[in-house]
Amino acid sequence: MSAKRTSLEKFRLKRALETLARKEGRGTELVSLYIPPGRQISEVAAMLKQEYGTASNIKSNTTRKNVQDAIVKVTQRLKLFKEVPEKGLVIFCGAIPQNGPGSERIETYVITPPEPIHVYLYRCDAKFHVEHLQDLLKEKETYGIIVIDSSASTFATLLGRRLEIAQEITSGVPGKHRAGGQSARRFERLREARLSSYFKRIGQHADEIFLSIPDLKGLIIGGPGPTKYDFEKGDHLNYQLKDKIIATIDTAYVSEQGVEEVVERAPEILQRVRYVEEKRIMQEFLYEIGHDTGLATYGEEEVKRSLEMGAVKTLLLSEGLEVVRVTVKCTACDYVKQETMKAQAVQSFEQSLSGQPCPKCTAPALYIAEVKELIEDLAERAEQVAANVEIISTETEEGQMLKNSFGGIAATLRFKLSG
Ligand SMILES: [Zn+2]
Repeated sequence: MSAKRTSLEKFRLKRALETLARKEGRGTELVSLYIPPGRQISEVAAMLKQEYGTASNIKSNTTRKNVQDAIVKVTQRLKLFKEVPEKGLVIFCGAIPQNGPGSERIETYVITPPEPIHVYLYRCDAKFHVEHLQDLLKEKETYGIIVIDSSASTFATLLGRRLEIAQEITSGVPGKHRAGGQSARRFERLREARLSSYFKRIGQHADEIFLSIPDLKGLIIGGPGPTKYDFEKGDHLNYQLKDKIIATIDTAYVSEQGVEEVVERAPEILQRVRYVEEKRIMQEFLYEIGHDTGLATYGEEEVKRSLEMGAVKTLLLSEGLEVVRVTVKCTACDYVKQETMKAQAVQSFEQSLSGQPCPKCTAPALYIAEVKELIEDLAERAEQVAANVEIISTETEEGQMLKNSFGGIAATLRFKLSG
């Protein structure tokens, strides 16, 4: 999977989970079902049948009916699958009040996770259990860690939150204080020779451990004191690994404890890495705009036109763009209209529709058929023409510029558009 897609995929899952997390049942009647790859559909169906039976003990009539209805719906959805998809399957289902008590309607959401899930879970609760999917939003790439000081080095890999200590080596470098009778110069020479061979060994171990990882995302170097900087300055690391160093940080400890310190700070380090990436993407765009090369554009209409012509190289969308595209239809005829508005304005817009005559058939039958985030709408168009999509946060100065100066929508182009 290319890194270009990741920000969009993450954004989509994040928004879907935000929506699901907001939903509340009237009682303990919302079903969450997580099925990891490898399970048999029949086995899960049997478990649901049993849960249906257990639910008959629920005292409240409404709750019992809602739980059993949800289980039936989940079972029906499940049976549409011949087997569990390769990354697993998650189904949320339950009676959600639409407009105050008594207005519950069964809603069903089927999610095929972007990465394999490992949990097998059936839960009936007043809310949907989205936390296991939220875990997928966390960092999943592999990072290398080396903690270095003058006495020892520790090598570790961090895959998501799973830390593995790969190796520890000692330096063989004598301490700062020489033994009695030894000449100061000789001691210094010996120490330097040992240090140099130590650095060389660190480089060799790093090659062995990290070069074989096919998609190593980055390397973090840590350790107390200046030894780590000396190591970095010297040419002891393979150039492929050198290019991957994303941070060099001070730790209070060496060995495993030092590694754990690095891991604790990893989310913050990795977030910073993404911000640097976002800045770089935005600067590319700003360069084209600033130099008037014709290879960048912004604003909804211009970007849409460029997408239609297949000219967009990278579509930049601000995460702060809280604009939706509303599709209005008529139940009496085939009238369709789309309008773009702020997300907060949808509710009052919906109220304004009721009783309004349809422009085509004059029946007071207009309704909102779909509300889609503008980000999603544009991202889909970009995917159709194989353009890259980058969702840019508002955490950097450049990200703020995208949101405030360019309307949250911009693009770099593959070729100049005339007119
Ligand atoms: Zn109509």
